[in-house]
Amino acid sequence: MPELPDVEIFKRYLDATSLHQRIIGVDVQSAYVLKGVSGRELARRLKGRCFESSCRHGKHLFVRADGDLSLRLHFGMTGSLHYFKAEEQAPRHTRVLFVFANAHSLAFEDQRKFGEIGLIEDVNNFLKKRALGPDALDVSLGQFREIFAKHRGAVKTILLNQKFVAGIGNIYADEILFRARLHPATQISALKAKTVSKLFRAARYILKKAIESKADADLMPKSWLLPHRGKGGECPHCGRELKSATIGGRTAWFCAHCQKRL
Ligand SMILES: [Zn+2]
Repeated sequence: MPELPDVEIFKRYLDATSLHQRIIGVDVQSAYVLKGVSGRELARRLKGRCFESSCRHGKHLFVRADGDLSLRLHFGMTGSLHYFKAEEQAPRHTRVLFVFANAHSLAFEDQRKFGEIGLIEDVNNFLKKRALGPDALDVSLGQFREIFAKHRGAVKTILLNQKFVAGIGNIYADEILFRARLHPATQISALKAKTVSKLFRAARYILKKAIESKADADLMPKSWLLPHRGKGGECPHCGRELKSATIGGRTAWFCAHCQKRL
């Protein structure tokens, strides 16, 4: 499921392939993906324009078309982007195709159909309306501390709440907690200020390093949880078998030895 590092990689891919090219067509192959806009309107408003720049907030990607118009992309569970030449076949799970004047197209692919595409005029308004928290790579230590001081619950549930901090999902929440050596079910009321700072640093480190690794599990350090998570997986730190539990409705993987419950 695409989280902050994955969406950052999509952003860089889009920036490197699809900016500053005239859009000559928008082909909607599955209308389910459209939110608050019809296929006809999407095509009408984008045709003749170019994508000029993009910005990411949490798991959302906004692509500005010239004028005060932005395409909003959310990748759901399986969404991704693919840029290809007109003579090549579109990917199998293409939902919307943006066709450029340079005989290339950008496909929004999404096998599981949880992705979203919309058109918005004001990115900040959208973020406000959704009540999304600061981006996980922009949040300051002060803001992070305030979130932890103001709320109650298991530390993993807090990290996953997009209204507190935007961008962290199931996989990276587990990775961040593993690095901070914190059990995912630890109640945040039990955390000392020093531990909250440690968690903050762990989040920044993991998200940045994941982006450096192109959000590709095969390129991530073997000392991380990600290459080992799953049944029978062993802790890369102590070698004991990893455990799983349902926390905040999601499956957490962790090492019960290295990650103490406070
Ligand atoms: Zn361990």
